[in-house]
Amino acid sequence: MSKTKILVTGGAGFIGSNFVPFLLRKYNNYQVINLDLLTYAGNLSNLDEIIHDERHIFIKGDIRDRELIESVFEQYGIQHVIHFAAESHVDNSIENPTVFAETNVVGTLNLLEAARSNWMKAPFQYKDGNLQSRFHHISTDEVYGTLGETGYFTEQTPYAPNSPYSASKAGSDMLVRSYFHTYGLNTVTTNCSNNYGPRQYDEKLIPTLIQKALYGEKLPIYGDGQNIRDWLYVEDHCRAIDLVFHNGKAGETYLVGGNNERTTLQIAETVCTYLDKRIPKTKSYLEQIKFVRDRPGHDFRYAIDSSKLVKELGWKAEEEFYTGIRKTIDWYIKKYTQ
Ligand code: NAD
Repeated sequence: MSKTKILVTGGAGFIGSNFVPFLLRKYNNYQVINLDLLTYAGNLSNLDEIIHDERHIFIKGDIRDRELIESVFEQYGIQHVIHFAAESHVDNSIENPTVFAETNVVGTLNLLEAARSNWMKAPFQYKDGNLQSRFHHISTDEVYGTLGETGYFTEQTPYAPNSPYSASKAGSDMLVRSYFHTYGLNTVTTNCSNNYGPRQYDEKLIPTLIQKALYGEKLPIYGDGQNIRDWLYVEDHCRAIDLVFHNGKAGETYLVGGNNERTTLQIAETVCTYLDKRIPKTKSYLEQIKFVRDRPGHDFRYAIDSSKLVKELGWKAEEEFYTGIRKTIDWYIKKYTQ
């Protein structure tokens, strides 16, 4: 029996490279066509586990290239899309916003257009072979802006993106929404909180802290370190995507969060305290923490109410923070000390 062809974009980045092996481990009848530009954030070695798996085809390519996307759809007979590819680092978006609009907005539009033209005869009319075809867009809680000390983001929270990164993701979410309403494209969107786990690029908070701690450098903490994020282990995000992709309702959005709020300073302290036990030095790693000038427009707090996902699709975060963070730190110790 021929396998179901799923185009995964950005599958060599942090979350995508955790998701693709997860999907192939769980389902035997899927073939993943993994399209990734291998920017600085993507790395083929993230996919070592599946590099010889014939159900995985890697294509180095750019979602900004409309012709390429059309040819991938035609050549492989793409039946579903799970779209991770993005410029994802807020600090970079402050320095260079243009590429964020190009990749995150125009890139998403190119994929939506290819899905529409390949799967549909007319608005709200799918071709016979594509009646089940689905477009799953991976997005972030940052589109909702910032919270004060209390309250949670829900699917009803109005969009209020504050950085060029979150604005570009909000733009892509709106395009996905419009393709459902205008053309009847079978879309689902997941907006997730901060992920942590193996294979995240060095620039992000947790890998940066571990790397600098091990190299004896200062651990830079923005402002007073009191900004709050809701941290979710990457595999729990993969489980949520799996559920929404298979069972989510067309046109709907689902928020995914770990119910695990930590300040940036608490994250740094957790990393240092664990490193003190694992690789003790004469002085604690805590002494390397240094407060630096705050990021412009730095959102104070993100927190997610995932009850829709829990109630409707039975999702639950399985990883405890204290076990997930230890596994994560152990993984980066290996990476940075090899
Ligand atoms: P990442 O930066 O680690 O990976 C992004 C991947 O996309 C890289 O492999 C990169 O090479 C690829 N890519 C970038 N531009 C491309 C282009 N033009 N064409 C093709 N491929 C391109 O990002 P991530 O942390 O894995 O995030 C994946 C998705 O999840 C993003 O859409 C992000 O907005 C979203 N998200 C991330 C988090 C998080 O905490 N990391 C939380 C919520 C949502």
